[in-house]
Amino acid sequence: MADRLTIGLMLPDVLGTYGDDGNALVLRQRARLRGIDAEIHRVHLGEAVPETLDVYCVGGGEDTAQILAAEHLINDGGLTRAADAGRPVLAICAGLQVLGESFRASDRVVDGVGLIDATTASMQIRAIGELGSTPTREGITAELTEPLTGFENHMGATILGPGAQPLGTVTQGVGNADDAATVDLSDGERQRYAEGAVQGSVIATYMHGPVLARNPQLADLLLAKAMGIALAELEPLDLPAVARLRFERLP
Ligand code: GLN
Repeated sequence: MADRLTIGLMLPDVLGTYGDDGNALVLRQRARLRGIDAEIHRVHLGEAVPETLDVYCVGGGEDTAQILAAEHLINDGGLTRAADAGRPVLAICAGLQVLGESFRASDRVVDGVGLIDATTASMQIRAIGELGSTPTREGITAELTEPLTGFENHMGATILGPGAQPLGTVTQGVGNADDAATVDLSDGERQRYAEGAVQGSVIATYMHGPVLARNPQLADLLLAKAMGIALAELEPLDLPAVARLRFERLP
């Protein structure tokens, strides 16, 4: 990390439903409250993605918008190079689907960026509502101890391949896929309760909220990874409003 923490907000003009842009704001605010200089770097559709930002946020989006996002991110290659170099990436909902191998949107199967070993088909019924999980603590998320909370709103049913691990085990809501999408799989139990994905430096989830407002420990984990330190090395922040929000929303 240079003197200033740079937070990449990817394609907010096409990906950013349900206030997911707020994830970048939360990262910047939690950095600044600790006296760390931090700036948000917005990258719009058609613009080159710088590969040396400290952390990247990719939000959710509508089907047609996420096709445009996938095409741009594949052609540009900057986000892939950043993730390959170990820079942390947070992806939400359509962002998760776009970073997978392929996804279904607007009645066709679309190539994804390929950063997550996951394919997304369609569910019969849209998953809408509160979503809770227990962190799996796989890979880059090993330091997470707090339950995760958010809300979901998606038609996509995401099945993880062996290269990706779930971010959490569902305690409330649907998560990556419903029973109909997971019932035929040999590892159906793991898939049925899977929420999100962890692979290399990428953390992906179906949780809106914004997820980092509702899960400060996840925000701090991303900040710590962006700074190249352990989560425990970050000075704790006492923010009663955030604690109250979690208390209200946790199942
Ligand atoms: N369009 C995708 C779906 O419905 C993603 C939606 C979202 O990002 N909330 O599955």
